[in-house]
Amino acid sequence: MTTPHVDTNNRSIGYLRVSVTDRCNLRCVYCMPEEGVPPKSHADVLRYEEIVRLVRVAAHLGISKVRLTGGEPLVRRDIVALVAMIAAIPGIDDLSMTTNGTLLAGLAGDLARAGLRRVNISLDTLNADRFRAITRLGRLEDTLAGIRAAADAGLAPIKINVVAARDGNADEVLAFARRTVTDGWNVRFIEMMPLGAGADSSASQYVPSREIRANIEAELGPLEAAVLPGNGPARYWRVAGASGTIGFISPISQHFCATCNRLRLASDGKLLPCLFTAPEAEIDLRSPLRAGADDDALADLFRVAI
Ligand code: SAM
Ligand code: SF4
Repeated sequence: MTTPHVDTNNRSIGYLRVSVTDRCNLRCVYCMPEEGVPPKSHADVLRYEEIVRLVRVAAHLGISKVRLTGGEPLVRRDIVALVAMIAAIPGIDDLSMTTNGTLLAGLAGDLARAGLRRVNISLDTLNADRFRAITRLGRLEDTLAGIRAAADAGLAPIKINVVAARDGNADEVLAFARRTVTDGWNVRFIEMMPLGAGADSSASQYVPSREIRANIEAELGPLEAAVLPGNGPARYWRVAGASGTIGFISPISQHFCATCNRLRLASDGKLLPCLFTAPEAEIDLRSPLRAGADDDALADLFRVAI
């Protein structure tokens, strides 16, 4: 196995998040405007062979973990074929996906057979009306069916991502925590970040992880430290006796920049060293790729990002 590249802050960079599309079938209020984002043209979006070429180059540099995301990755046509191609790349030993789960019921089995290991599923509420209000277009039942299908397909562990919002779902923290006991769910509470459509309201909607934890412990008792496989910044705990876990992702109250291990490849082929990379600092891989750059030249661009 190739050793992960170490960046100038002594962080090992072994993880690549690949956005396969900027499109989505939902319009979550904190992420997208109601009308959606102007879709990138097909010509601007990397073709599957191009994504695979870049992941192969990244694998040579020590990237061993890849997560597919979006937009919503499952709306991109033939996503199962991309999963199969990336899973077959030597050196990639962990292939995962972050999805809203609405289309997962029909795809989980094929994705697992193609080589997907596990999924993170975004679910901010267990109430059907509220689900519709938060996502503007979605149906709770579809995402719940997606979670069941992922479990049946053996995608494990499944992590349920809950973005906490003061006026949105803060009153459901206990309901989610109880699912770690009754259903073995792995629930992760994410602090809202000043990103996307929710950038302006994120400060007023922000709920600190420590407040969520205190509310859970007041009702369900002290949380015990737990371990869950993964590559990210979450810290895990469990309610005494629960088979599932409770995680906290705290980008606002506990910056995890010091241990960040990832690069991001946008659907248009821009490489981002950070979620907050300024547009002028993005590294364009698509132009050199289409101009015939060889693997060494592409690897050099990855090194610049690292
Ligand atoms: N569509 C897929 C989904 O929803 O899982 C993948 C892309 S979505 C952008 C990835 C994750 O980012 C989701 O868990 C979503 O809830 C989270 N997210 C989006 N906007 C956010 C924000 N402003 N703060 C924190 N998390 C956010
Ligand atoms: Fe779509 Fe995911 Fe954003 Fe919701 S959070 S609008 S599902 S990309």
